[in-house]
Amino acid sequence: MSSNAVYSKIEIDMFSFNHTKTFKGGIHPSDQKVLTENLSFEVMPNPKQITIPLTQHLGKPAKPIVKKGSEVKVGEIIAEQNGFISSPIHSPVAGKVLKIIASATVIGFPKDAIVIESSEANEHVLMSPLDPETVTPQEIRDRVRDAGIVGQGGAAFPTYVKLSPPPDKKIDVAILNGCECEPYLTRDYRYMLERTDDLISGLRLIMKAVGVEKGAIGVEDNKPEAINKLKKAVKKHSNISVEVLKTKYPQGAEKMLIKAVTGKEVPPGKLPFDVGVVIQNIGTAIAINDAVVKGEPQLTAALTVSGLGINKPKNLIVPIGTPLAEILDYCGGVKENAAKVIVGGPMMGVAQYDFSAPVMKATSGILVLTEDEVNDHEETPCLRCGKCVDACPLNLTPTKLARLSSLEKFEEAEQLGITVCMECGTCTYTCPANIPLVQWIRFGKQKVMALQRERQTI
Ligand code: SF4
Ligand code: SF4
Repeated sequence: MSSNAVYSKIEIDMFSFNHTKTFKGGIHPSDQKVLTENLSFEVMPNPKQITIPLTQHLGKPAKPIVKKGSEVKVGEIIAEQNGFISSPIHSPVAGKVLKIIASATVIGFPKDAIVIESSEANEHVLMSPLDPETVTPQEIRDRVRDAGIVGQGGAAFPTYVKLSPPPDKKIDVAILNGCECEPYLTRDYRYMLERTDDLISGLRLIMKAVGVEKGAIGVEDNKPEAINKLKKAVKKHSNISVEVLKTKYPQGAEKMLIKAVTGKEVPPGKLPFDVGVVIQNIGTAIAINDAVVKGEPQLTAALTVSGLGINKPKNLIVPIGTPLAEILDYCGGVKENAAKVIVGGPMMGVAQYDFSAPVMKATSGILVLTEDEVNDHEETPCLRCGKCVDACPLNLTPTKLARLSSLEKFEEAEQLGITVCMECGTCTYTCPANIPLVQWIRFGKQKVMALQRERQTI
């Protein structure tokens, strides 16, 4: 990462709040948020053609219910939920289905996708609004499922599943993740400033759906304006608190956030449900509010377009299915010294090579980084400095895990807990030898998980 002095704001704001809440390990990359943090959301006009992959979520791809030549309206279901862990997809534009083909995606693998030519027509098919005060927990879950809402924090897990804890798990608190600890991204920050009441309404609906009295919003202390606004807005809800957390990567990782807010540790292989917590992203809470209160399905993605390699950084609302290339053009195009395009944040995002790939429901950002920002230094042998071990928030030994993966000693890596790794990239960031630790660990983790699946089928 660049150490450009213009990004020193983090040090100034860090002392604005009295805080101690955080977790062990982690790092302090330059947050680079100054490029977009003061830019309000802009709504990008509909592109002429959109491409909507059937895999917008974790789980089974949605099943198309339209075919070539079908006319569609805004909000109409074009692919239905296909199993418990799946999610329906709605058309974000009115127009005509051109084809269903395998398309490039921002996750790196081609997936079947519905291509729609958009028209000038603006006919909508919305669901009927529900009263947030009288809606029942089951009605909230059904609406969230029918609206095709998936987690906005990156994993794109169907949200209604996360609102359906097993009956034997007692939930104590619902937490909204307002950390946005990845550098550059300011989407959640803008949401906290621009849609404060809607996100609190979404949190109250989440609390009702899972039957908890207590809600909390965790925000890093580099966002003082958002903290002030949220604190004012929650005054009328005595059961909701705003928790100010130390700015540190990866504070927004679920396990780290739960530890900082509740003091509880989620054991390896367990879920937030297991320690009585339901956790949702800020954008997800807003989508829940919009689905219940306005009857809107999830049709758009809110994202930050940033980096020193893009001419006009922006925070944008775009229809899902908009090609990356059109968004980059809308932002004034890329500069000559642009070296890399990443979807997501610089720590956990995915490098892009095909800009026809479309935005998905959970896309949070597009970064265009210059050579200085990419900082691709040559790899040297391990110095045995232990920095990666000290920084790992999950107490793993990244240096050993990466070495075992590179030597294809997958069973030994499994014994050392490689599957617990959340691929946060903290170890790689700290490594003075520039060893691509997380890349090796990701490779080893995939192999170990394949071995585990094989064992289950024997
Ligand atoms: S990527 Fe995995 S091993 Fe590396 S710091 Fe993050 S959790 Fe630890
Ligand atoms: S930080 Fe890098 S150089 Fe230091 S022990 Fe870990 S892998 Fe080796």
